Amino acid sequence: MSDKNNKSKITPEEANLQKIISHAKEYGFVFPSSEIYDGLQAVYDYAQNGVELKNNLKNVWWKAMTMLHENIVGIDAAIFMHPTTWKASGHIDSFNDPMVDNKDSKKRYRADVLIENRAEEIRKENKEDSEEVAQNLLNKMGSLLTAENMEGLRNLLIEEKITCPISKTSNWTDVRQFNLMFSTQMGAVAEESETIYLRPETAQGIFVNFLNVQKSGRGTSMKIPFGIAQIGKAFRNEIVARQFIFRMREFEQMEMQYFVRPNDQKEHFDYWKAKRHKFLLAIGIPAEKLRFHDHEKLAFYADAATDIEFEFPFGFKELEGIHSRTDYDLKQHQIHSKKKLQFFDEELKENYVPFVVETSIGADRLFLATMCNAYTEDIGKDANGEERLRAYLKLHPALAPIKVAIFPLVKKDGLPEKAREVFELLRYDFNAIYEERGSIGKNYTRQDMLGTPFCVTIDHQTLEDGMVTIRHRDTTAQERVAISDVNAKIAEAVSIKRILEKL
Ligand code: ATP
Repeated sequence: MSDKNNKSKITPEEANLQKIISHAKEYGFVFPSSEIYDGLQAVYDYAQNGVELKNNLKNVWWKAMTMLHENIVGIDAAIFMHPTTWKASGHIDSFNDPMVDNKDSKKRYRADVLIENRAEEIRKENKEDSEEVAQNLLNKMGSLLTAENMEGLRNLLIEEKITCPISKTSNWTDVRQFNLMFSTQMGAVAEESETIYLRPETAQGIFVNFLNVQKSGRGTSMKIPFGIAQIGKAFRNEIVARQFIFRMREFEQMEMQYFVRPNDQKEHFDYWKAKRHKFLLAIGIPAEKLRFHDHEKLAFYADAATDIEFEFPFGFKELEGIHSRTDYDLKQHQIHSKKKLQFFDEELKENYVPFVVETSIGADRLFLATMCNAYTEDIGKDANGEERLRAYLKLHPALAPIKVAIFPLVKKDGLPEKAREVFELLRYDFNAIYEERGSIGKNYTRQDMLGTPFCVTIDHQTLEDGMVTIRHRDTTAQERVAISDVNAKIAEAVSIKRILEKL
């Protein structure tokens, strides 16, 4: 798989990412898909602990949207949609990436990504005019992309002396447009079948349901402004898929489309920019690892767009997009379906096609950002109270796959029985595990690597006084707590409320 290649020339950034990839595999977070057949490029499986973390991330996003906003509801639309959807949305005609091959290394790249990387390099040179030169380059690229001038893009690669990172030459092929949608056939009989697409984004399932949701609402119809949220799989035949789960061919999006009055979009766009930033802080991502990247070059239908970028081991990259999409999508669907997609505003006594502000984040990118952010190496105390270097996943307790692990100090003297009793007390409320093999020290280390916030140890004293030792992941501090208090103590820390109340 591409992530494993070129071990000999590994950069520090790659080494950091490699650490996360190895950790994810060794501790059951993410496996390459169909690995026994050497994997399928850019397709990954979530493993036993990964699926828990991902579900927790999805759950907190879902609740932040639908529970904390009286005017946002969720839907779960099908992946397959009527093919005209993609004509209307523009995906059939223009969901393309410019692809280029290096003739010497035979490696394939996205021309725009090569140019963006060059601009980033220029910025890092930190000369007086670096920012301006980088921006000019991006503007030039933007104009060529808008004009679909593929020859111009190739010339720009050559003029800028952009080389292939492998062969170090600029021996580029022509730049070609490549449509990213996967297609398949629907229907058993070939002649009668129809080409349909695996959705490349979840948003269109929201747009085509706009009126259905507006009318049915949460019992009574919804008034503008209101939003529709959705979590679901999306598929893109990405030209180059590198950097682990950052860019996958099958991935999951968490999108929310907010329908607003025409001309009110700026106010809502600013609101969602701030709101989404706050969400990322609330789940434990520090402010210095986030930055906004406002788009100067906008898609033709958008009137504002920003990316929230996270500092991945390979640099600041898009984590979430917030887009002010005007009334483009609904109008397109009106034209192609010949159905009115309008709202009658009682206050204004006016019919209009609402404008849309969208927030769109990849569940997988959020997962990767969370893992990268949580992976910590520092000095801590081992089971004997001695200081040593240790690694652990500093996950927000509400996100941790396992909330509590329960161990008997030894596998005799009635301790396993007592530990099982404690396990029974906890397992109905939390994802808890019981382990009687191995030493306490090793068990602590293993749980640290999984990000488990609490370990509970049952010892001989427990049989006499009904107290257990709770060991805290981040501080390695230990405290004695009465068995009857353990549940409440853990519940307080791992409740999703700890995140939601910050929003
Ligand atoms: P990029 O520029 O990285 O290709 P994009 O601008 O095409 O991304 P959007 O279409 O705005 O991305 O998608 C919204 C979000 O979906 C992104 O911010 C990202 O988190 C996620 N996403 C998009 N493509 C992928 C992918 N191939 N793999 C994983 N997540 C993705």
